Amino acid sequence: MNVADSRRVAAALEGLGYTPEPRAEDADVIVLNTCVVRQSAEDKAYGRLNSLKPVKKKRPDTVINLMGCLVGVKGHEKLQKIFPMVDVFSPPSDPGPLIAHLTQDESKAHEDAATSRRFAFMDGELALPQHEQGNLVSSFVPVVLGCSHACTYCIIPYKRGIERSRPVGDIVAEVRSLVSQGVKEITLLGQIVDRYGADIPDGPNLSALLRLVHDVEGLERIRFLTSHPNWMTAELLDTVAELPKVMPHIEVPIQAADDEVLANMHRAYTSNDYRRLIADIRARIPNVSIATDIIVGFPGETDAQFQRTYDLLAELKMDVAHLARYSTRPGTVADRRMVDDVSDEEKWERFRALEELQEGIAAEINRRYQGETIEVLFEEKVRGRWRGRTPTNKLVFVETDDDLTGKILPVTITWAGPWSMQGALKPNPVINLEAPVAIA
Ligand code: SAH
Repeated sequence: MNVADSRRVAAALEGLGYTPEPRAEDADVIVLNTCVVRQSAEDKAYGRLNSLKPVKKKRPDTVINLMGCLVGVKGHEKLQKIFPMVDVFSPPSDPGPLIAHLTQDESKAHEDAATSRRFAFMDGELALPQHEQGNLVSSFVPVVLGCSHACTYCIIPYKRGIERSRPVGDIVAEVRSLVSQGVKEITLLGQIVDRYGADIPDGPNLSALLRLVHDVEGLERIRFLTSHPNWMTAELLDTVAELPKVMPHIEVPIQAADDEVLANMHRAYTSNDYRRLIADIRARIPNVSIATDIIVGFPGETDAQFQRTYDLLAELKMDVAHLARYSTRPGTVADRRMVDDVSDEEKWERFRALEELQEGIAAEINRRYQGETIEVLFEEKVRGRWRGRTPTNKLVFVETDDDLTGKILPVTITWAGPWSMQGALKPNPVINLEAPVAIA
């Protein structure tokens, strides 16, 4: 979500004539986009902000914009007191305050309200930053902003505000504009993306949105995340299975497998509900890959309760498990009403146990790819190797001197590890110029 938000700010700045600067220290405008989902992320944000103090001291004209979840949607008086060097505060997903600030500074009379609206999530067009035009293969499109579910551990609803679905026309227009700039794959984003449209009376749901986006010519692949188990309908799963551009990959967090812990997290499903859902996803979408999220060390989680998570992960064998150690977030229900009583040591121990388990599972799943030939969408060259993804979202690396940006090519997997794979391109078919050519 923050990658998408940052890109929108970059695009808005380029619209005003700014150009990217590799070093923050040399820039006229510095935007620090922040995440506070765990304490570690928040610490990083403060660290970076502090590192900008000498920059501002040396060049007071530098505009510093603090953006994202550190700011949130509920005002920033406190932050302003602690960090007077920050010139502009922006809530998540909103480049508006920065653009208004800059246009006022530069051309006084500019129609800033209109300009600032133009770059918020108000309309569809999105001009990519110049260096990404023709180079960016895969992009994010937020479709649901905010969240109203209130899992007891989670700070996102407090920081990103209530759930708001973007109008379908804006989304399709944005996808179209991205595709016209070279993008081949888009990932629709929402905290609970399957709830798309639930807040718009008679609006389309995620399945209907997928169909509309599917019609965009030139778009090759569609993904969406994150799903909540309670909102994944049979209609949605069947739509994924039916539409060829929608990739067979589902991100649906379980968070924990003990029913008491799940209830305390306010997840609103049981481990058996989740089991049934995974079986249903696998039955309806052939060759699907599934990713989950897990939090270890939620308040009150006993060894026996953790063991249930371990056992369920071993049983269900997901392709990917994003693991997190519980981090208490100020203002959340878990922070106010529960005691963060699992020690750091214990959290680490549980984390490592799951990590090791998952490494084995992923290795076992990915081994099945060895020797197979799969269509890979290539994104960019990293450290001499081309990086791409299979429909199931597995990372594949290929060595070649050709420019593969945005190409979908069959790749034979030569090596498969738990986190990535290596492959070889099919050799180019030899064209025999002497042979007679049939002309239709
Ligand atoms: N709405 C999305 C994204 C939430 S944030 C979802 O439901 O997946 C991504 C992940 O961070 C969550 O799935 C959860 O596993 C983790 N997370 C959220 N709050 C956390 C906290 N307080 N401590 C540790 N991990 C947390």
